[in-house]
Amino acid sequence: MLLESISFIERDWLSANHVMFRDVNGATLLDTGYVKFADVTLRRVRETLHAWDNVPLTRIINTHIHSDHIGCNAAVQRAYPSATLAVPSSEVEMLNAWDSPDQMLSYADQQAEPFTWNSTIEAGSQLTLGGERWDVVATPGHDMGSVVLYAKRLRVLISADALWQHGFGFVVPQAIDPKPLAAQRETFKRLAELDVGLVIPGHGGMFTDFSGALKRASDKLEAFAADDMKIARNVVKGMFIYSMMWRDEMPLAELPAYVHNVGVHRDYNAAFFRMSDEAFAHWLVEEGVKAGKLRVDGDRVRNG
Ligand SMILES: [Zn+2]
Repeated sequence: MLLESISFIERDWLSANHVMFRDVNGATLLDTGYVKFADVTLRRVRETLHAWDNVPLTRIINTHIHSDHIGCNAAVQRAYPSATLAVPSSEVEMLNAWDSPDQMLSYADQQAEPFTWNSTIEAGSQLTLGGERWDVVATPGHDMGSVVLYAKRLRVLISADALWQHGFGFVVPQAIDPKPLAAQRETFKRLAELDVGLVIPGHGGMFTDFSGALKRASDKLEAFAADDMKIARNVVKGMFIYSMMWRDEMPLAELPAYVHNVGVHRDYNAAFFRMSDEAFAHWLVEEGVKAGKLRVDGDRVRNG
């Protein structure tokens, strides 16, 4: 379904998917994955370059600055020192303030290696990737500086976390900041104007049911808009399950201190749930088990 000059590399929920593009002078890598699994990123990139007659990697681009998209930037730069790195210009302020709560890095118990960039990409501009013209489209909401790529001729949308087959990347509760949810609503409207036959999302497989996905995502957003507590639960559960994906396991006895020390859990519990640290930790584990993402094994909680 894709051209030979475009390669989709599906990862998982801890690491965002990659897209690679082959051009005459070299290849481009879009998004780099979560830092703990840099070996997988590097292997998949190497395999793709190999399949492309060992064309050099000359450019790295990020859609936004969450840990699952930028985590291996530095590792890829070390492996390919001549590759330049471009970030959305709308993310530069946040990158300069590295690890502020809005980046949801240490604030949400996530990790990423700091990196340097050479240039920026502007929403509203065009990029040539894989021999095709791609519009850089601003998609604020889940991340206020995020961008996606759209190739009109191909009818392909690379949607990052702005749209998945069954949802989209979290937005924060309106009581914390009302702007992201309103921005995400506008983002869905902007995307709805595009003629899309294939979506390459930031997580999950490629899909063709663009209008169905937009409808599901919009319905979900409006359910969130009507209920801030629903958003708050979604964020803390999502962040805890996400942390467990890279931690693998944690002693249950350490969890009350953990939720007290991790910013997103401490602040959201104080603002929305108002439970003791023990009760909040217990609830998080229970919810993760109910969702089939975590299991309790003796005195430990484990991923999977
Ligand atoms: Zn994201």
